Amino acid sequence: MTNASNDILKKFNLTNKTVLVTGASRGLGRRFSYVLSSMGARVVLTARNKIKLQETEDYIKKSGGECLTVSMDVNDEKSVNEVFAKVDNLYGEVSILINNAGIAISKSSLKSTMDDWDSVMNTNLRGVFLCSKIFAKYLVNKKSSGKIVNISSIAAEKVLGNYLSSYCASKAAVSHLTRTLAYEYAKYNIQVNAIAPGYILTDLNKNYFDTIEGKEMIDLIPQKRIGNVEELDGALLLLCSAAGSFMTGSIIRVDGGHVIS
Ligand code: NDP
Repeated sequence: MTNASNDILKKFNLTNKTVLVTGASRGLGRRFSYVLSSMGARVVLTARNKIKLQETEDYIKKSGGECLTVSMDVNDEKSVNEVFAKVDNLYGEVSILINNAGIAISKSSLKSTMDDWDSVMNTNLRGVFLCSKIFAKYLVNKKSSGKIVNISSIAAEKVLGNYLSSYCASKAAVSHLTRTLAYEYAKYNIQVNAIAPGYILTDLNKNYFDTIEGKEMIDLIPQKRIGNVEELDGALLLLCSAAGSFMTGSIIRVDGGHVIS
C-alpha cells in the first residue's frame, strides 16, 4: 500500500451521512445496516417486526455503530412519510436510501392467487417506487443531493425455475425503475443505482437449498456455490459512497456468474 491508498480509501467513508435501510430486521438488510454503520454512517433501521429490528439495533450498537430503529411498512404511504419527517427531526437529513425490503412467494402461476401477486408486487415494486419518490421529494425540497440503492436480483434477467414468476417480474420492474428514476432524478443530483444479487443464503431462500432442486441449481452456478451476505459489501459501499460519484442507472450483478451460465 502506498500513501495514496489512504486518500482512495477515504472515498468509502460515510461519516456524517444518515442512511435509511428498508427491511433492516434480518437478512441482507441487517448486514447492509451493519456495514454502513461500520463505515461511519448513522443508520435508520426500518421494517415491520420490532423484535427483529431490535436485534439488528443491538448487533450494531455492540460493534460501536450508531443507529435508530423505526417501524415502517413499505406498503403504507402514511407510514413512509411519517418516518422521513420523524427521522429528519431526530437525526438530521437522510442522504442515502437503501430499498431492500422484499418478499418472494414460491408458487406456480397456476396455483397463485391474485392476492399472492399483489403482495409480491406491492412490497417489491410499489414499495420501492413509494419510498423513492417520497425520499426524492424530501431531498428536492431541501435542495440536497442524495443516493438511492435498490436491491434488485438476477431474477430481473433470468428465469428462476417454475415457481417465481411474480418475483421475477417484480425484480425486472425494479431494475428498469432504477434506470428510469436515475434519468429523472439526475437533474436533482440524486443518483439511483441497484445491486442484483444472485442467491445469498437468508430466510428468504433457506428452505429451497435443502431441496433436490435447490442443490441442482447450485451446481449450475459457475462458482459452484451460493453467496454470503458479506460478498455484497463492496458493491454496497461503492454505490453509497463518493467512490461511486459518476454512477447512476447502473445495476451491479453479484452472483458467482449465475446469469452467464
Ligand atoms: P429476508 O426475508 O431475510 O428479509 C426481508 C426483509 O424485508 C425483512 O427485513 C422484512 O422485515 C422486510 N420486509 C418485508 N416486507 C416488508 C414490508 N411490507 N415493509 C417493510 N419491510 C418489509 O430477505 P433477504 O434479506 O434475503 O432479501 C432482501 C432483499 O434482497 C429482497 O428485496 C430480496 O428480493 C433481495 N434479494 C435477495 C436474494 C437472496 O438470495 N437472499 C437474492 C437477490 C435479491 P419485516 O418482516 O420485519 O417487515
